[in-house]
Amino acid sequence: MSEHRSETRLVEAGRRREWTHVDAAKGGIVSPGVWRASTVLFDDVATMHASWPPETGKFQYGRSGTPTHWALSEALTSLEPGAQTTRLFPSGAAACAAALLSVLAAGDEVLMVDSVYGPTRAFCDGMLRRLGVATRYYDPLIGPGIADLIGDKTKAIFLESPCSLTFEVQDVPAICAVAKARGIVTMIDNTWATPLLFPAIAAGCDMSILACTKYIGGHADVMLGSVTATAALAKKLDLATRALGQTAGPDDCWLALRGLRTLDVRLRRHEENGLRVARWLKDQPQVARVLHPALPDCPGHEYWSRDFKGASGLFAFVLDGGDAAAAARLIDSLELFGIGYSWGGFESLAVPAEPTRTATHQDWEGPIVRLHIGLEHPEDLIADLAAGLARL
Ligand SMILES: *Cc1c(COP(=O)(O)O)cnc(C)c1O
Repeated sequence: MSEHRSETRLVEAGRRREWTHVDAAKGGIVSPGVWRASTVLFDDVATMHASWPPETGKFQYGRSGTPTHWALSEALTSLEPGAQTTRLFPSGAAACAAALLSVLAAGDEVLMVDSVYGPTRAFCDGMLRRLGVATRYYDPLIGPGIADLIGDKTKAIFLESPCSLTFEVQDVPAICAVAKARGIVTMIDNTWATPLLFPAIAAGCDMSILACTKYIGGHADVMLGSVTATAALAKKLDLATRALGQTAGPDDCWLALRGLRTLDVRLRRHEENGLRVARWLKDQPQVARVLHPALPDCPGHEYWSRDFKGASGLFAFVLDGGDAAAAARLIDSLELFGIGYSWGGFESLAVPAEPTRTATHQDWEGPIVRLHIGLEHPEDLIADLAAGLARL
């Protein structure tokens, strides 16, 4: 499967014949259906015992999945060349937590990118700390300098590139090379790019985490997360997932699988629309800076140019002066942009980004507005933003 190009893998992956042609003599369907199950029934006790240990394609118990889960897992794994397995979670936040718990124990330290998604930071400062795991935050632009922060207790490095508020792009291959030489596990929150735009395992990461809630689902109607891992980390990930009792609903997996089939075309349009709006914003007098990984003003832009196959539709801009109230007025006045958490759906969104509330390393000049550019016509979005900026 993985020798095909990613567009083809998106179409083919997870459509095993035994999941679509349940009674092959009578034909079959294109996509695996929604298989809901808790109890699995066996013909006899010996068959029940033989169902252990659970694995893809083998019914055991609802928590170990059904063809709906297996199809999505297999499809996500096939998008990350070099990966062996994918585990599914009820949210992206749960996926981040499980990845960390799969390799960390009391007395260990994790190096965490300072611009990380807020709830991941809260998990480190709260739960991990309580369990005796220390977190040390590092500058997203540290690159190979990460070597200086590694100590005897460092067991994992967590990356997020670009981050989802201020969009610093990390030198992922350099950090992973340092980690590999020291036997330290690397895991990346790859939600912004998805494996289509940044195959993270091939870039050297041991685990690639997605909030499937965003672009994989793509329609703002599902909560789901995934962790994809190399063969070396598969067992640890599996043990942690089972110990935590994590599983995902089959209806949500089915929605994610449906979203996945069109991921490539959607991302291309998000990129095109997003860049059109970003380039327009760059020329507006009320805008100090546009933080879009594909534009040179974005910290780490050179790594995006070197490592990524494209951009998604999420970026931010910094207003030239003004305060949080001005940013709020602008956002409130927009007609085509929804105001709300999350992103990655077909619709455009605008929110204030307040990174100084969490990140320790940066000082931003003015209020930041984060945009998710959806699939509307970009000229309509630009007209909406133009009217909003004019009212400022
Ligand atoms: C949304 C998000 C998450 C969490 O995903 P949920 O499904 O909302 O729990 C994790 N990381 C990033 C970068 C996100 O944007």
